[in-house]
Formats: sequence, C-alpha cells, structure tokens
Amino acid sequence: MTLAPRPPEIPAPMPSSTEAPVLVWFREDLRLGDHPALAAALETGRPVTALYLYDDASPSLRPLGGASQWWLSRSLKALAQDCAALGLPFTVRKGAAATEIPKAVKEAGAAQTLWSRRYGAAEAKIDGEVQARLERAGVEVSTFNGRLLYEPWEVTSKAGTPLKLFSPFWRACQAKGDPAPPLPRPTKRDVTAGPALDGLAVEDLALEPTTPDWAGGLRANWTPGEAGAREAVGAFLDDGLRGYAKNRDRPDLPATSRMSPHLRFGEVSPRQLWHAVEAAKAEGAANGTDVEKFRAELGWREFSYHLLHQHPELATRNVQPRFDAFPWSKPDPAQMRAWRRGLTGYPIVDAGMRQLWTTGWMHNRVRMICASFLIKDLLVDWREGEAWFWDTLVDADPANNAASWQWVAGCGADAAPYFRVFNPILQGEKFDPEGAYVKAFVPELKDVPTRYVHKPWEATEIELRAAGVTLGEDYPRTIVDHGKARDRALAAFGRLPPKD
Ligand code: FAD
Repeated sequence: MTLAPRPPEIPAPMPSSTEAPVLVWFREDLRLGDHPALAAALETGRPVTALYLYDDASPSLRPLGGASQWWLSRSLKALAQDCAALGLPFTVRKGAAATEIPKAVKEAGAAQTLWSRRYGAAEAKIDGEVQARLERAGVEVSTFNGRLLYEPWEVTSKAGTPLKLFSPFWRACQAKGDPAPPLPRPTKRDVTAGPALDGLAVEDLALEPTTPDWAGGLRANWTPGEAGAREAVGAFLDDGLRGYAKNRDRPDLPATSRMSPHLRFGEVSPRQLWHAVEAAKAEGAANGTDVEKFRAELGWREFSYHLLHQHPELATRNVQPRFDAFPWSKPDPAQMRAWRRGLTGYPIVDAGMRQLWTTGWMHNRVRMICASFLIKDLLVDWREGEAWFWDTLVDADPANNAASWQWVAGCGADAAPYFRVFNPILQGEKFDPEGAYVKAFVPELKDVPTRYVHKPWEATEIELRAAGVTLGEDYPRTIVDHGKARDRALAAFGRLPPKD
C-alpha cells in the first residue's frame, strides 16, 4: 500500500517530540559527502538544521592562522551554497561554544545534536562541556568519527598501550582491515528542512584580509570547498597517483595530491581518499606500490593524531623531555626575517619559504629542509617555526604541523635522529635536479646554469654576471655557513642527555 501524498492545503502538524528537529554542528568537517553525523541526522527522518560556529571566544582554543582563516572563509561560503542547493538550512554564528551551542539548540527546538569528534585537548574539553549541558537539558547528543580512518584510542599495541613508532602503529591500523566505504552524498530527497536560525553572513566573520589583501596567491592556487576538493582529487587520480611512490619527493613535479588543506578542513574524508585510490588502481590508473605509499602518507596523518591524543601539548612541549633544557639560540631578528621571507642565500630553502608565503603551501620534502635549516643551521627553537607555519599554511593542522616539527627537531616520538642535518645543497641537487622548483620561486636565479642553481656562490663572477646576478645585491649571500652550522648543531645536540 502506498500512502497518498498530503494535500498541500492541510498544514503540517506541529512537531511532536519524536519529530522535533535535529541540529548538525559542523566544525572541521565542511562537506556533505561521507559525513556520518549528517547522514545519521537525515536518517532520523526529522527536520534537520545545520550550524557552523566560529569560536573566537573560548580562551583555550588556539586561534587559526591567517592563511587558515582565509581558507575557512572560502570553505564556509562553499558549504553554505551546497547546503542551500540541498534545501538544508545552514547558519553561521560566532561565539563561545559552551554558551552558543545550547542557545542555538534551544532556538531550533532540537531534540538531538550531532557532530564529528575533534581531537585537540581544548576542543575535546569544550565538546564534553557542551555535551553535558545539552544532556542536562534533555537533548540527545550523538558524536561520530568524521575525520580519521581509525580513532586514536582504538589503535594500540598488543598489550593495549598507545604506540610510539610509526611502523608498528601503521601495522596495527592495517590489521584492522580496510576502513568502511564512504557514505553517499545526500540528495534533496533525503532532506526535511529544519528551522532556519538567524545568523551571520560569512563576510561578517572578517576572515579574509583586506588592507593589505595578501591572499592573491592563495586565490590563484586553491579552490576551497567540497567541490574544489573533488576536482583536485580527480586531477591527482588522473595525473599524480601513477608514479606517486617514485616522485612524491620531487618538488619540481606535480606528484603529490595537494589534499592537505582539504583534509584539514574536512572537505574530503580520508576514507574517501582511501577508497578512491583503490578504485583508480582497479581501473588501471595506478599500481599497488603507488596506492600503498599514498595510504601510508594518510597513515602518517593518523599517527600525528595518535600522538596528539597521547600528548595534548604537542605544539608546545617536547615529546622527549630530555630536550627541555636544550640551549636554543635567541632568534636573531635579521636571520628570522631572512628565513621567513626566503632570503637565506640557500636557494632550496628560499624557494620553499617563498612558496609558502605566496601560495600557503609547501612541498613536504622542502618543509623538512626548511625546518631543518631553522632548527639545526640557526639553532632556533622548533616552536618558532611551528608558529610561522601555523600562521602561513593553508593546511596548518594541530596534529600534523606539531608532530612534523618535533620529528625534524628530533624531540618527537618517532623522530629523525638529532645528527640528521639536512644539507640544503645536496637535498636541492637530489630532489630538484634541474633547479626548476628553485627557478619557479626564486626568479632571480632563473638564468643561473643548472649546476650552480643550488650553490650560486660557486659560479664564477663572469657566469653570475651572464645570469644577471650579483650576489649580495640581486640574491643574498648565505646567512650562515652550512658546514660550520652543522658542526655547531652536532656539538650542541650531542650534549643532550641520552634517550631513555
Ligand atoms: P600527499 O603526499 O599527497 O599526501 C596525502 C596526505 O597524507 C596529505 O594531504 C596529508 O594529509 C598526509 N600526509 C602526507 N605526508 C604527511 C606527513 N609527513 N605527516 C603527516 N601527514 C602527511 N601536513 C599538514 O597537513 N598540515 C601541516 O600543518 C603540516 N605541517 C608540516 C610541517 C613540517 C615541518 C613538515 C616536515 C611536514 C608538515 N606536514 C603537514 C606534512 C606534509 O608536509 C603535508 O601533509 C604534505 O606536504 C601535504 O601535501 P599533499 O597533500 O600533496 O601530500
């Protein structure tokens, strides 16, 4: 038997408690596809209202950096449009979650609130407080994993303890089997619209720079939002995945996915990527080695979250306490400026720092080289570098950024040994063999012969003149001598107390 549709002139009944709306609180999951909280909300069949709260009022939360704020603004605009197309009321508000979420839930008359879990200590504490308040008010709260392949606390050693090294961690993840397939993106038919709440326009959040407007390079390079993420995944599956294992260390090639900001803001889920690369392999667009390597990189992201869960102060405190008394140099303002602006005189470092400054992103290999330069060559505390990346990266991530800086410094869990000092010349020659990456971001050196592009000071004056370069004028002389800086670093790090 099929029920006849309700004639339009008969008003819909007031919602009973079982038909009371549900509220989905969006946070770091700015997408509609493979969104477990949204899917569960729609599954109830009740009216659904969506909310994003820009929380700049909870003092315990680390404020987003400038590049991330720009991304968030664009991503929210995209999400607002996507929700509108689906007929899902979406509201943006601002304020402290502990008070604003219960207020919005009350205004919506919602009987249930759903969200994807967050993993930072401050975020988790706030979420716990909000949950407690809502439950005291009789509102059901349901939380979901919308961000990771595996919950950080679910992956343990055989003895049930957290893991400290990547390889056993990744083996333990793999032993759990493939993550579940992604949930489909809802369609209009799946949505019963809940009440539309008063809110702000995304512009009211003033997240994008105006005077000066420094975001031109970001706009030129990125399309935030779920559709932008989908397009970027498609381009990567078509052109980047084949050969990923071999080429991912080459900053001069378009060989990596550039998914990091999309993952950071949850415009794509790691599950979607996990299964997309498998599907590409089935269609013959990639081989098993490329797929496994790509998944292992997603694994490093998982591992960073595992570490963040174990070490809530990952961005501010050495995982290995033996580093606590390390005699970092007082940052020299001129050297810091040279590092930040890409004027160190080491072309690969300068190219990386300028790529970051102009596009909001830097290739992974070059991130390691630039971080090593700050920590080992300049002996500057890794936290200075972490903070600069936090402000300038569009993918600045509370787990990945902190864990990676600690990895390079050697004070992290599964860290590079302290005596590993990246040589910016050899690294450049190995991973940017033609100097194409350097020339793209350090145009002063575009006519320097390839064999000198990573060490222009070795060219003769005649060769440099022919390339239009006068060292110290068109391009800086090196701000430190790498050989001497390396010896100084090895001596300083060599005095650390032994590892437990
Ligand atoms: P792909 O090679 O295509 O990898 C796919 C995804 O796997 C990435 O999007 C990312 O989510 C994850 N991934 C890849 N490499 C790593 C890694 N080494 N550690 C953790 N996850 C990884 N990544 C961030 O997402 N945010 C950060 O703030 C961040 N800061 C970093 C700081 C330093 C000093 C270093 C050395 C690395 C940092 N990384 C960070 C890790 C890595 O550089 C980026 O994830 C990667 O360059 C993003 O490019 P992609 O999306 O093309 O990567």
